[in-house]
Amino acid sequence: MATIFSQIVEGEIPARVVYEDETTMAFLDANPLAPGHTLVIPKDEYERLNDVPDDLATDLYATLQKVIPAVEEAVDAPASNVAFNNGEAAGQEVPHVHGHIIPRFDGDGGNPIHAIAGSPPNLDDDELDDIAERISANSRT
Ligand code: AMP
Repeated sequence: MATIFSQIVEGEIPARVVYEDETTMAFLDANPLAPGHTLVIPKDEYERLNDVPDDLATDLYATLQKVIPAVEEAVDAPASNVAFNNGEAAGQEVPHVHGHIIPRFDGDGGNPIHAIAGSPPNLDDDELDDIAERISANSRT
């Protein structure tokens, strides 16, 4: 079944669309965490950021770059958090890649992105070396 965001792309359900091109779209989040909270998506349905093909990933990043300053300016925000919940365990509810642009204001009582995970782990040097080694090996093309 098409995701709710594909239904927005198809015009089957309404949304406050703020940007659209051939491959990407941005619209206001229906439950904004701040005025101007915007979602940026690839029109094609991919569940995770790492599933998105290279060309489309380039388009998605270009749209983020365009829309971030547009959002900040529209609500007079000096900053924003830009984040993807990448997978269910990370809080992703809609299985269609979407970047959140959440405008931030001085003294808004919010937190930096460091506050989203649980208790920080206590890792010794050997464990850090091992993790770094494994990530590096997995990242090689
Ligand atoms: P996530 O937890 O990262 O999957 O976030 C999904 C986001 O989609 C939430 O912030 C919802 O408020 C938002 N959302 C769900 N349905 C709609 C909709 N029809 N239009 C706009 N935003 C939506």
